Amino acid sequence: MQRLLFTPGPTNVHPLVQRALLVENMSHREPVFAAILERLCQRLEGIVGGTETHSCVPFAASGTGANEAILASLEGKLLLLDNGRYAKRIGEIARRHQLNVRIVATSPMEPINLEAIQLALDSDPYIKYIFVVHLQTTTGFLAPLQKIGEIADRYGCQLLVDGIASIGGHEFDIVAHNVAFCSLNANKCLEGLPGVSFVIGRTDLISASAGKSRSFYLDIHEQWRACKENRATPYTAPVQLLAAADIAVGLLVEETVPKRICRYQTLRDQLQQGLLDLGLELALVSPDVQSNILSLFRIPHNVNYSALQQELNQRGAIVHTHQEIVDAGYMAIATLGHMNSENVAWFLTQLSEALPKVGKR
Ligand SMILES: *Cc1c(COP(=O)(O)O)cnc(C)c1O
Repeated sequence: MQRLLFTPGPTNVHPLVQRALLVENMSHREPVFAAILERLCQRLEGIVGGTETHSCVPFAASGTGANEAILASLEGKLLLLDNGRYAKRIGEIARRHQLNVRIVATSPMEPINLEAIQLALDSDPYIKYIFVVHLQTTTGFLAPLQKIGEIADRYGCQLLVDGIASIGGHEFDIVAHNVAFCSLNANKCLEGLPGVSFVIGRTDLISASAGKSRSFYLDIHEQWRACKENRATPYTAPVQLLAAADIAVGLLVEETVPKRICRYQTLRDQLQQGLLDLGLELALVSPDVQSNILSLFRIPHNVNYSALQQELNQRGAIVHTHQEIVDAGYMAIATLGHMNSENVAWFLTQLSEALPKVGKR
């Protein structure tokens, strides 16, 4: 039976990415691995437009680990834009690191409020960092990075971005958006396997941060220094996963980011048209803050979400919607990863057959 993921991470991967796990026995201290890791990191720096200014640092962790690495390196007050689950998690990590955090909250189903950010910055000269989730993966809302970057610049703040769900499948320019540090992982729009993540940060800031991280394992400077000076990660690297990430990012470079964006938008539009054709109602998201990879539709009043998810999963169409979105009355479908229009058409067939079984007439 066909099994496809319609979740925003992990994603379906290209067979070449899966096969990359079968690399021959290799140590993380060998030059052959160093070359793979260096190529991977250089390509990621290029993908975000930071080749001249920023450095990519790998971690053996899911995306949350990359966010924690950033937070562990900060000293000073943080303004957190809280618009949902992943921002709340950043707030929780910051609390464990005993950082002084000021929160500007927006409802998850609304775009980020730029005025509230400026008001907070006007009233608090001690704020040194702004942390924003670029793509809030539960709802599909994109943060207006260009505008937030301008504000950060005007107030002399460092902009920190969770780019985990966005980078590779959305426009992201680390220099033009004034981003000091961003996080990403291998298994969303990069279409790699889960388990490795990256921090891409301004090289001057990383270089100046020696010995400052509150975390031993997630120390950005130490990880960067060891890769540069010893050509090896300081601790045993997930060699096979990084080799797979290297193949995945190679495929992205081949496809190009603009074409991947275009493919994702086409798949999303196909899905949304199909949902409308099934008589479903889409969540209203204005096009300038709409993600390329996520669609939300209103759960019909006579349908039980759990039953529908179970019915789809049994058919091999793997979906997942976070509880707070179900509580708001919506179901989320993600169209990213190694996916084409036939896969989306197949999903729509599964959904059209599943809906009557769980109540929708
Ligand atoms: C997936 C995701 C994360 C990280 O989740 P992990 O389970 O740790 O990989 C963080 N932020 C956003 C916006 C995400 O989409």
